[in-house]
Amino acid sequence: MTRSAELYERARRVLVGGVNSPVRAMGPIGRDPLFIERAKGPYVWDADGARYVDYLATWGPAILGHAPPAVMRAIEAALPSGTSFGAPTEAEVRFAEAVASAMPSIEQLRMTSSGGEAVAGALRLARAATGRDVIVKTEGGYHGAIDGMLAAAGSGATTLGVPTSPGVPAGATAATRLVPFNDLAAAEAALDGAAAMIVEPVAGNMGVVAPADGYLAGLRAVCDRAGALLILDEVMTGFRVAHGGAQQRYGVQAHLTCLGKVIGGGLPVGAFGGPREIMRELAPEGPCYQAGTLSGNPLATAAGLAALGELADPAVYERLEATGAALEALIAGCGARVVVNRVGSMMTPFFQEGPVVDYASATRSDTEAYAAFARRLLEGGVYPPPSQYEAWFVSAAHGPEELAATGQALGAATA
Ligand SMILES: *Cc1c(COP(=O)(O)O)cnc(C)c1O
Repeated sequence: MTRSAELYERARRVLVGGVNSPVRAMGPIGRDPLFIERAKGPYVWDADGARYVDYLATWGPAILGHAPPAVMRAIEAALPSGTSFGAPTEAEVRFAEAVASAMPSIEQLRMTSSGGEAVAGALRLARAATGRDVIVKTEGGYHGAIDGMLAAAGSGATTLGVPTSPGVPAGATAATRLVPFNDLAAAEAALDGAAAMIVEPVAGNMGVVAPADGYLAGLRAVCDRAGALLILDEVMTGFRVAHGGAQQRYGVQAHLTCLGKVIGGGLPVGAFGGPREIMRELAPEGPCYQAGTLSGNPLATAAGLAALGELADPAVYERLEATGAALEALIAGCGARVVVNRVGSMMTPFFQEGPVVDYASATRSDTEAYAAFARRLLEGGVYPPPSQYEAWFVSAAHGPEELAATGQALGAATA
């Protein structure tokens, strides 16, 4: 029996399903999870000492690779000063300045401890600012494990076949209107009287699906016409698909932006922000309540600031783009019947002919074929996301050596 298997047995007694987040159990690819002991650069090591080239990237944050020296040093430097104050700090100011200077649509922001919390804050703020209730959401769009967004949500909710979760009261999603991703006309019709439209600018939680030409700019225009706010959920894409996120890559501006993942440098951080005239509705300046005991936590803020500092170098994004293209070519050429959707350093191989442009086409993928492929990659020392409907990420730490090892494992997985 492996150590992972032993630990999984113990874990299932005291943790539901043995995990703290559902897809980690690897159910969608039909195997038991690996327990991870440590991670460095492009690699993770399991409890049995086996090393894997990692494309999970802790579900997105590890854009610099695991345990990048600058982030580790920043955490070490912050540690002796204490772990939490529940009071303002200089580092939070510097963090907010760094985010605002990278994203022109953000003048002010509010930090949280997760992406889902940032989305919940942005939705409440959008309703408060417009005096309207309805939120338009895309099918297959994932915005965290929050009640109102668990209608046709992607990520674990897709692979686990839970379109709307039990426990979410009908009232919580009654004001959520669903439209297909990449369908501007449907969004325009649904926006009538709505507070906001929330969308992942590059869908990443139904697998990666790029926005069609003009889709995002079109959404901004129809939101403006409807008096609704465009909320771009850049929890995955922020500082990932470009320094200024999808807004920079596609030349569009959100009214409100949600961030998470990359901005925490691997520690729990989220944030939402926008122009001052909207943000001022939030308490303590305005009446819209939002709060968090550990929001702006000094260790998490230090890690995030250090990560943002490293990401200020444009060479990082050139490297991510090149490595992303190289991995895409390896997967597309490995002999499996796949179509690979990629935007920069995030991608998904779908097991079908394609094109994959929305949730309906994404869910036509042969998930059994993906599962077999992923299991064989793990046997070959490569760690892919354990579900068809999650994104693969390359990091700035992945190089020719890791790509060569991946090419070998891909060959064996499709032999
Ligand atoms: C991961 C993710 C979230 C949720 O973030 P958590 O930190 O897991 O709460 C929200 N939106 C998008 C687009 C995400 O990818």
